[in-house]
Amino acid sequence: MTESTSKLQRREQPLWFEKQRKRRDAIFLETTRSLCSTCLAVIDAKILMRNSQIILRKWCRDHGFEEVLIHSDADWYLRAAKYNRPGDLPLRFSTKVKDGCPFDCGLCPEHEQHLCLGLIDITNACNIQCPTCYADSRGTDYLTLAQVQKALDTYFTIEGQGGVIQYSGGEPTIHPQFIEILKLGIQAPLDSLMVNTNGIAFADNPDLVKQIKDISDDKLEIYLQFDGFSDEVYQKLRGAKLYRKKMQALENLLKYEIPVNFASTIKRNVNEDQIGALVDFGVHTSGIRGIHFQPAAYVGRFGSLDPLNRVTNTEIIHAIEDQTEGMFRMNDFLPLPCSHPSQIALTYAYIQGKKVKPIPRFIDIEPYLDQFTNTIYADPRPIYKRAVEGLWSAGTSFNSLKTLYDFSCVCGLPVKKEFFSSNGRAKIANENAFRIILIQFQDKYNWDMKVARKSCIGFIQPDGKAIPFDTYNLLYRNGG
Ligand code: SF4
Ligand code: SF4
Repeated sequence: MTESTSKLQRREQPLWFEKQRKRRDAIFLETTRSLCSTCLAVIDAKILMRNSQIILRKWCRDHGFEEVLIHSDADWYLRAAKYNRPGDLPLRFSTKVKDGCPFDCGLCPEHEQHLCLGLIDITNACNIQCPTCYADSRGTDYLTLAQVQKALDTYFTIEGQGGVIQYSGGEPTIHPQFIEILKLGIQAPLDSLMVNTNGIAFADNPDLVKQIKDISDDKLEIYLQFDGFSDEVYQKLRGAKLYRKKMQALENLLKYEIPVNFASTIKRNVNEDQIGALVDFGVHTSGIRGIHFQPAAYVGRFGSLDPLNRVTNTEIIHAIEDQTEGMFRMNDFLPLPCSHPSQIALTYAYIQGKKVKPIPRFIDIEPYLDQFTNTIYADPRPIYKRAVEGLWSAGTSFNSLKTLYDFSCVCGLPVKKEFFSSNGRAKIANENAFRIILIQFQDKYNWDMKVARKSCIGFIQPDGKAIPFDTYNLLYRNGG
């Protein structure tokens, strides 16, 4: 064949035939900003959908490309996106826009949401040393009463009266003035006061439980770190065999009718298999109001991970469905629209004896939460809308009269007198309500600026600042 014949033959083939383009292995969804996990520089990132998962891919000029799993279920992420809605402004911003996010916390005027839930770290000391402590608690500092009061004042200045504060740390119960600090919160005009605790003090000292009951005015809820039902789990997550202590703490708290929520961290190859048992135990144990599941976030002492094989909210929801044999199903969980909808999901159930009825199975919640649907929804029924929006907020507490009203309204229940104490507060006697929340906190791998800017949970400082939860742990804790 001569050279000219061969050229002719090539030209006779259609042009597209010769092109051997490869197709990308993922669908590009959106652009965002993230952090380099090595140098913490703020860098460009994109959100991709690959093999039914959501991946954050980012590039640092000094440390190259990184990818991290955001959600194990892309359908959930895409469905959740439509629940995004405009945030409410805080009453006051504490900083100016100067260096850009995340260096202007906060809250700066570019933050997209007020704080539904404020945390005050009353100490950085602890009575155990969890290898997984997100706060890396090993200090010896304790806020003074005056500093706690200033932090409470900060909260009221930016949020107004009402709302929910959680005392945290470190371990709040070892503060030498724990009772006085508790009284400050109980006397403050809050809807509810929570204590985030490992429970050891409540296990070892039943008198302390009685003391807090006596002053609690039915305003107090305990967030009990409770990760599973074996010493092996606690050895790996908390560095000690604590299962019996946890059960003792629970027994003492429930004996004095102090409402308990479990805060359960789920880590790969440690306790994913206990998720269903935690739900089942919580639902059927009188006095446990709900469970907060938190996929392990790799901040503080949590060390490093395989970023593409981390536990995510959607994996936990699937595990709840599988391990409870459908007591709760995937579709029972809806995103929290006040935060970024990919970060928090929750559901409520009405409990009648052994029967568990997740609310989304008897009322169609979607039209009340979906910002876009609402604009064309024919019957917005404002009472329901207010009640559903009240429940789907990070600042709910079954100790709050409002939450209980909202729950009763959504469930179509009469608000019974026996739900309330003589002071008008919610009583533990209401055993019909249960809530499951999943919060996917961010670390240096999965930090996503658009999620951080919509955060509705923040640390309240005595100096007048309030700093969104994830950003605080990564960049501001211990002086930043
Ligand atoms: S996280 Fe929020 S408060 Fe902090 S700098 Fe960004 S926008 Fe401002
Ligand atoms: S995670 Fe909580 S209990 Fe564990 S060391 Fe940190 S502050 Fe203490």
